[in-house]
Amino acid sequence: MLEIITLPVLTDNYIYLVHDPVSHETAVIDPALAQPVLDTLEEKGWQLAYLFNTHHHSDHVGGNIQIKQQTGCKIIAAQADWDRIPGIDQGVNEGDVVSLGSHKANIIATPGHTRAHIVYHFAEDNLLFCGDTLFVMGCGRLFEGTAEQLWHSLQKLKALPKETLVYCTHEYTQTNGRFALTVEPDNQRLQQRMIKVNRLRSNNQPTVPTSIAEELATNPFFREDSVELQKTIAMTDSKLMEVFAEVRRLKDGFS
Ligand code: ZN
Ligand code: FE
Repeated sequence: MLEIITLPVLTDNYIYLVHDPVSHETAVIDPALAQPVLDTLEEKGWQLAYLFNTHHHSDHVGGNIQIKQQTGCKIIAAQADWDRIPGIDQGVNEGDVVSLGSHKANIIATPGHTRAHIVYHFAEDNLLFCGDTLFVMGCGRLFEGTAEQLWHSLQKLKALPKETLVYCTHEYTQTNGRFALTVEPDNQRLQQRMIKVNRLRSNNQPTVPTSIAEELATNPFFREDSVELQKTIAMTDSKLMEVFAEVRRLKDGFS
């Protein structure tokens, strides 16, 4: 079993440390900052073997250089992001596999938030580290890609096993959930989930990880085929991709 530590940093970022107790290898994913990672490694007595990035934004790579200098870890990120990932050692593409001990993660390309965004899927462990592609009840904003690209990317994640645990990089859950209720006010799973989420947040607890099953039931960006959602936004006769694009557009104007 992999051990996962969630570090809340900055306003709403999460950094994840993943440790394999058999090989004693550890990886960090999207370190916005170095110090909290270095402190945790020291506390746990872990040595860092790898640093995985999902995309080049500063709140995901901010700790790269300092962490690499202090630990000698190997930095892995998208080949297409070679020029904008600080300290990159190995570029990967969709279909590549990276290892942590005997645990393997498949690289899935998920363009949309950025043009080279990738996610790390540990298929046998049922874990997904998805950066800013999928959030709890939400998805990433379109900075470099089109709605169509992000929709295709999310279709790949939607097709993963339902029990997959999903570790995203931001705590945007309450705002996402409030938005979700505007497009699916009668979704009971969503209503119930918001009660749980609000309780967690009022105790300052993370709402991650989520699961593919929970997202299928409550995430409007996984629910473009919902009749209620389509009726609410008056798009019952549109293509699913267009419904998705409209939900993404509505969310951009929501706060
Ligand atoms: Zn980002
Ligand atoms: Fe981010």
